[in-house]
This record gives sequence, C-alpha cells and structure tokens, in this order.
Amino acid sequence: MKRLMIGLAMLAFSACEENDRVEATVVPELTKPVAAVKLFALECGRLHLEDIAMFSDEHVYDGQARDLVDPCYLIRHARGDLIWDAGIPPALAAASVDKDAEETTTLSETLEQQLAELGVAPADIDYFSISHSHYDHLGNAALFAGATWIVDKDERDWMFREEARQASNFAEYAALESAKTTLIEGDGDYDVFGDGSAIIVQAPGHTPGHTVLLLTTANSGKVLLTGDMWHLAEAREKRTVPAFNFDRAMTLASMDKVEALATASGAKVIRQHVPEDFASLPKFPEALE
Ligand SMILES: [Zn+2]
Repeated sequence: MKRLMIGLAMLAFSACEENDRVEATVVPELTKPVAAVKLFALECGRLHLEDIAMFSDEHVYDGQARDLVDPCYLIRHARGDLIWDAGIPPALAAASVDKDAEETTTLSETLEQQLAELGVAPADIDYFSISHSHYDHLGNAALFAGATWIVDKDERDWMFREEARQASNFAEYAALESAKTTLIEGDGDYDVFGDGSAIIVQAPGHTPGHTVLLLTTANSGKVLLTGDMWHLAEAREKRTVPAFNFDRAMTLASMDKVEALATASGAKVIRQHVPEDFASLPKFPEALE
C-alpha cells in the first residue's frame, strides 16, 4: 500500500511538471495517508425530563415528557485516542433517584469503568474535546486534564468567565484551565489527526463555541456527531431553538451549516441526546469501524 502511494505521488509529481493545475487538485489527495477511526459510543448517563418546554423558545414542546441519553465517545486512531464529550457527573447520577423529581439522571456504569473494559485508563487518552460546555458534557472532564484539550476559543473564554467560576459545576472542569490546550480560533475547522478522519467543525449558537465532529470510518462511512444542535428527534425537522440557547440567529445559521455538511459528506447524523440515534450505533464495547 505504501509503495503504491509513493508511486501515485511520483506520478502526480511528474504530471504537475507538465501542467501546474494538476498539482492543486491531485497531489494532496494522493499523498495524504488514508486513515480511519473506530468509534465507541459509551453511555454516560440517561435523563428523564417531566417537561421539555425548555427545548423550544416558541413553546412547541410545553408539557411533554421525554427520555434522553447522554453519551460519551471514544475515537481511536493510529495517532492517538480522542474522547468527545464527558457525560453527566457520576456523583449527580447517584444522587438523583427521586421518582417525583422533574428531572432524574441515572448512570449504570461510569465512563472510567467502561474504558477499563477496553484496557484504557483516562491517563492514556491523548486528546479531549467537547461539543460544548454544559454540565451534561463535562461531568468526567477532570479525568482528562492530562490530555491535550482541543477547544474553541470562544467556548473556553465562556467557561472561565467570572460568572462560570461561581457555578456549581465549575469544580468538575476547573482542572482543564491548566491542561495542554489547542485553541480553535476564527471560524475554521480543526483536523484532529491531520488526515481528515476527525474534523471538529464550529457550529455556535447553543453556546458561544459549540462544535460538531465529522468522522471517517474504514467500512461504515462518515459519521457526524452533532452535540446539542438538536436535543430531540423532531427538533431537526422543526428547526426549534431551545429557550436557553446563547444566540438564536447563530443557532439557525449553524443548523444550515451542519445540514449542508451532512449532505456534502453523506455522513450518518447522530443527534447525541436522541435514544434511537444512540441505539443505532454498535453497543459498547463493540465499535463502529
Ligand atoms: Zn446536552
């Protein structure tokens, strides 16, 4: 395979001597390593909400109850392991078993326990990234303070603003402040492994620096993990905007951007909190490859 790639690269090189236009279109595709990721979907909590009114600023869902999942993802690549989103705080899940509560959270096995089934310890993880900084995506963040944290600059600023430092969940991610950090600045994408197999794409609006993750697997095509772009199955079609989003117009523009990305890439779209989307991925410890 390696020999073939070198041969193709030389072909492309000799072609570009004759025609400069060839260089731009052919060489990058042929010289890039062809790599793929394995995607493990881990259950990092389940939520039962008695009233999902908060998921529409136009009161589309008032009075409805709903069950949501709250996954974490392990993405494995020859160049390292990435954790995408960190679930609810395990301590919160253990404390919330009151059946009359308006919101109950449950967790059957911690992220750490699940990773151990693969022989992976949190300290082995090379890269950590989150779709955004709400409590249900940061619950286990402190476990990965030794990894390289890849984060949108706007989101990081938001997480460490004075008001956030006073919030009850600040302690769960405070350790990230001194983590080795790769900041995503401007509006650009970020290629985690440098070969196009895991690309973080900015989709702000839910929070100032909300992001989604486009993955390429070897045999199952592309997968787009969409964070909290759509919390509910029907939210994608209805284009509803949660009442607690940071910016409505930004949210709608990001929905357009993510839809266009889904169409262009042909990716399988995962609405991360939607139980049927979670169930459509291989059951851990199996991976999508
Ligand atoms: Zn969420």
